Amino acid sequence: MKSKLTNRQAEDDLGSHENTNLSRRGFMVTTALAAAGAGAAGLLAPSPAEGASGIEKTKNLGQGPFPAEGMALYSSQGPHKLMKFQRRALGPKDVAIKLQYCGVCHSDIHHGREHWRKENFPLITGHELAGVVVAVGSSVSKFKVGSRVGVGCMVNSCRHCGPCQSGMEQYCENGNVLTYGSKDRDGSMTQGGYSTFNVVDEDFVIDIPDVFDLAHAGPMMCAGITVYSPLRRWSVGPGKKVGVVGLGGLGHMATKIAAAMGAEVTVLTTSSAKAEDARRFGAKTVIVNAQGADLSKYRRSLDFILDTVPYQHDLERLIPLLKMDSTLCVVGVGKTTEPHQIGPFSLLRDRTSFASSQIGGIRETQELVGFCALHGIRPEITKIPMSGIDGAWTKVVEKEARYRFVIDMANA
Ligand SMILES: [Zn+2]
Ligand SMILES: [Zn+2]
Repeated sequence: MKSKLTNRQAEDDLGSHENTNLSRRGFMVTTALAAAGAGAAGLLAPSPAEGASGIEKTKNLGQGPFPAEGMALYSSQGPHKLMKFQRRALGPKDVAIKLQYCGVCHSDIHHGREHWRKENFPLITGHELAGVVVAVGSSVSKFKVGSRVGVGCMVNSCRHCGPCQSGMEQYCENGNVLTYGSKDRDGSMTQGGYSTFNVVDEDFVIDIPDVFDLAHAGPMMCAGITVYSPLRRWSVGPGKKVGVVGLGGLGHMATKIAAAMGAEVTVLTTSSAKAEDARRFGAKTVIVNAQGADLSKYRRSLDFILDTVPYQHDLERLIPLLKMDSTLCVVGVGKTTEPHQIGPFSLLRDRTSFASSQIGGIRETQELVGFCALHGIRPEITKIPMSGIDGAWTKVVEKEARYRFVIDMANA
């Protein structure tokens, strides 16, 4: 019953967020689901077994280690190549997941191309995993064989620091274990979701209700939670005017989620061809933020801006769009060699704030899944085969994704 949003969880939210309005909204999600009765309860109940044939094929694997294959980079320049490897044997709290889908995030490209740091190769990226549990460790209590699950950017953390204790493992003071490219607890390096199989501690696994096609689950695990967390943190809701900068994987989810929260959404995109889509996703206003475009008529019009663009761009154009005391929150992360610049007077003029935010905690990710279920929100996806990853990366960089590529593991 991991995914059920209980009143207790809503109370916990009071402790984990600074703004009580946020908690109230979390409670509204909870009560709305409860009020919707058995149908809604069904959305969040543990799921029956799915993909029985897949389970049949893997039932003799026992406790592992488990054979897996994935698409690995062997250098930051290189194309992806098939790599056969093993996932670790089940620990007491581990679940073994037969992966069916994995979203392609721009962060995968930043990691793979070493835009952020030196990486260890071979490297399998991917942190928007979705699949079905095929084996569980002896102490697993939240999942069973057949559970439909997702895994995002983290697979472990220290569990005892302040942020971990308050459900914000993404800010673990002792360093969390990322889904790929991180040193795992056994000393090996984690490998991500562009692969057929994974073994993950159940505390870092998200329950996916039956209402979701599993192909839609992955993009909630990074793109969805990365925008949901700051939208809640900065009290986005009815009466608020919210700017979403960039209409890609994150931006299209931010538009849908902010609109569902009741905010009036303005999308700023450099691609005029995306304007119609932006409105379909819930934007009331679309600003084509082309080089040199005059934005002066939108000055001091927004209560919050969520900037999802994953490369260097001109923030000085965006800050004047904020009302006094409002915040520009950047969640898109560009190359470390190309930092943003903010002039000395930019924030002073209207006492505006510059902020950032990193994915979301496990509890909040589960809450996001409930929110998307309640509001019928799904990512816009294009399925690709394993062999299509290099082509998809090129399209993501060239802003041609509409709006998330999702690898279908059944399709080589
Ligand atoms: Zn990501
Ligand atoms: Zn911690």
